[in-house]
Amino acid sequence: MDKVRFSRVLIKLSGEALAGEQEFGIDPEAIDRFSKEIASVVSAGVQVVLVIGGGNIFRGLSGSAKGMDRAQADYMGMLATVMNGLAVQDSLEKNGCDTRVMTAFTMKEVAEPYIRRRAVRHLEKGRVVICSAGTGNPYFTTDSASTLRALELKCEAILKATKVDGVYDKDPVKFDDAVKYDTVTYLEALEKRLGVMDSTAISMARDNNLPIIVFNMFKKGNMKRVAEGEHLGTTVQGGD
Ligand code: UDP
Repeated sequence: MDKVRFSRVLIKLSGEALAGEQEFGIDPEAIDRFSKEIASVVSAGVQVVLVIGGGNIFRGLSGSAKGMDRAQADYMGMLATVMNGLAVQDSLEKNGCDTRVMTAFTMKEVAEPYIRRRAVRHLEKGRVVICSAGTGNPYFTTDSASTLRALELKCEAILKATKVDGVYDKDPVKFDDAVKYDTVTYLEALEKRLGVMDSTAISMARDNNLPIIVFNMFKKGNMKRVAEGEHLGTTVQGGD
């Protein structure tokens, strides 16, 4: 396969990634590592949209499992993604990137409201656009927010940063004989519940032919290699 550098990508980082070795919260060293990776993608001339999860601080589902109203808990989850967004913005700027945090609901003293055309303009100027507060709606996740923003901002792919090398037929952390897929179709990912992203996000990517590239974020240089079109990890695409 020829290497074709992407011109605009959406990078999805889970909240968990920001917690580093800890189970919870924000680890500045972990954030600094990812920021350096993201900065290297930007220096390669690739425009970057960033969506960050909130699972290191709060997940709506866990709140509702403990008896909270689901929508209420989800709003707390969305606020958690804003905190993560601000933490990553700080770190990216220390690493020489120009950035804007945009929120799906207005918090204009803290960050810009998300306006699609404005986001495009920022990207054209080489700024990393950090889309926070998910989709702004409860009952969604930041995976769905990633597909939505990637489509409306015309990103060529979602780069989904994970702890493992790609998508496996079973959990590679638990099973030694787990086999990694090079490519997988959207339908396979959905039917076999391969855990690439949640089903809403995958269905939307499938309906709009948006490739999802799952790669290991802990290997230095991987993010830039993927953004430059090298086939790493697993690509979810195609099918019927
Ligand atoms: N969330 C939401 N709507 C969205 C995006 C996120 O309600 O559009 C809430 C939801 O409660 C979710 C939490 O924010 O659990 C954190 O996001 P997510 O679980 O996707 O984070 P990740 O697992 O990637 O860290």
